[in-house]
Amino acid sequence: MFRSHTNGELTLKNLNEEVTLSGWVQTIRDKGFMIWIDLRDRYGITQLVFDQDRSSAELMENAKKLGREFVIQVTGKVIERVSKNPNIPTGEIEILVEQLTVLNESQLPPFTIEDETDGGEELRMKYRYLDIRRAPVRDKLIFRHKMAQKVRNYLSDEGFIEVETPVLIKSTPEGARDFVVPSRMNPGQFYALPQSPQTFKQLLMVGGMDKYFQIVKCFRDEDLRADRQPEFTQIDCEMAFVEQEDVMNVFEGMTKTLIRDITGQEFGAFPRMTFADAMQKYGNDKPDIRFGMEFVELNDLVKGKDFKIFDEAELVVGINVEGCADYTRKQIDELVDWVKRPQIGASGMVWAKFQNDGVKTFSVNKFYNEKDLAKIIEKFEAKEGDLMLILSGNEHKVRTQLSALRMELGNRLGLRKGDVFAPLWVVDFPLLEFDEESGRYHAMHHPFTSPKPEDLHLLETDPGKARANAYDMVLNGNEIGGGSIRIFDKELQSRMFDLLGFTKEEAEAQFGFLMNAFKYGAPPHGGLAFGFDRLVAILDGNEVIRDYIAFPKNNSGRDVMIDAPAAIADEQLDELELKLNLKA
Ligand code: ASP
Repeated sequence: MFRSHTNGELTLKNLNEEVTLSGWVQTIRDKGFMIWIDLRDRYGITQLVFDQDRSSAELMENAKKLGREFVIQVTGKVIERVSKNPNIPTGEIEILVEQLTVLNESQLPPFTIEDETDGGEELRMKYRYLDIRRAPVRDKLIFRHKMAQKVRNYLSDEGFIEVETPVLIKSTPEGARDFVVPSRMNPGQFYALPQSPQTFKQLLMVGGMDKYFQIVKCFRDEDLRADRQPEFTQIDCEMAFVEQEDVMNVFEGMTKTLIRDITGQEFGAFPRMTFADAMQKYGNDKPDIRFGMEFVELNDLVKGKDFKIFDEAELVVGINVEGCADYTRKQIDELVDWVKRPQIGASGMVWAKFQNDGVKTFSVNKFYNEKDLAKIIEKFEAKEGDLMLILSGNEHKVRTQLSALRMELGNRLGLRKGDVFAPLWVVDFPLLEFDEESGRYHAMHHPFTSPKPEDLHLLETDPGKARANAYDMVLNGNEIGGGSIRIFDKELQSRMFDLLGFTKEEAEAQFGFLMNAFKYGAPPHGGLAFGFDRLVAILDGNEVIRDYIAFPKNNSGRDVMIDAPAAIADEQLDELELKLNLKA
């Protein structure tokens, strides 16, 4: 028997018991006549003590040979500690060791394996298995496990069946590139890894499964942005005989349950916002509504006053930053520089202050009189002590820039608190998005999303204006889930492929199987998918998804621990009948 107890469970209640423990040596304090060791496992830490007066000379000798991260087994007696540690559950006791066995030695680890570590990101990734021994990492994985269990229980109780769908498939378009896998048995042919199980879950609906879910890996070969993972996990769902409202109800219920179980916070119905409103008020289709700073449009007040920049702008729009009128010139200049960084791309910023002493100032007061400024401040609904920041330019760009500024200020002013949850639905997304580069429409969600019935006629006249039966769940400024009611009529689906610029042959080659299935009685259906990694991170008051993945890839899509991706052997290439011909 390796252990009678774990390292997280012994307390004063166990006083004088003989116990056996196993684990890793976290720290060693050697005073010569006394040696203390913190013994660690997944469950916690228990202090061991070796004492010259109470332990044999041989035992003292052996204890002195231990090193950090040695795996050991000890037997001894639970005794009361002289100096107690109130911060850990086992902090009132220690084990007076009688027997020590070294189960395995360890090299000196490359970084300290404690809550606070000296290891940099890349080093900890390379030795991720050591990082996982640290409580902060371990706890995140345990939290993830608990969330997955809750999701499974909730959905199973709601009548959903978990069905596994294949990983070696054909392209499912979700707007990214596919990862591909060459087929040895079919030389020259490739599988694609699923960007999502979208088409399969729709086929499950045709198959009559009625309610499907899966906690499933998806793969997208995207240019890596910070905190994107090329493989990630979705809670993927689909339901038959439903309307948008039915889908939203189930998953709003699921999200409420998760938040309630974690925080005790109860939510009523989640607020809903149309895509158009979200863009207008927040410049963003995933607004963080934990704080205000809604956009205030100023075109009608600022144009025609000889201020060329505003006169030439498509949109002049600003935010009111409460309580920041005391920003110094230097602080404001720094914000101006911030919005002018290439990542944001504003050409400048205008500001107005309603000072605490009642004085109103405007950075472009050359062009505007007191009355003009009073009107502007009134439109902002600013109070004494507020600072107003104003951007101008091309409508789409300026909204995006102001949205970034709003989020930055939200961060700087501490308005984005990890333990406050502000969920909402964003609805009525456009069906299509015009891509200037390729000169054609793309599906905003994916090609299987149905247009709103009342907008169907727009497909002929003004497709860009048609709205979709699509919805996103947004939590604290992150899209955590999204879905749609699907097209289930093969005529409409083929019209959709048409609009998206597929030829009949291309549509047939890529999606013939789905269109064919639709010939055999496809029920009305719809669903959604949550990004599980992100959901878990946010629910844990965090935003870094990598921390919640046991073995994540780094920012260049590499697994630095196993060193992948990597070249393959010539024999493997031969078997695949592939020849490398890399462009320089
Ligand atoms: N397959 C979609 C996605 O991955 C979700 C859905 O429409 O259900 O975003």
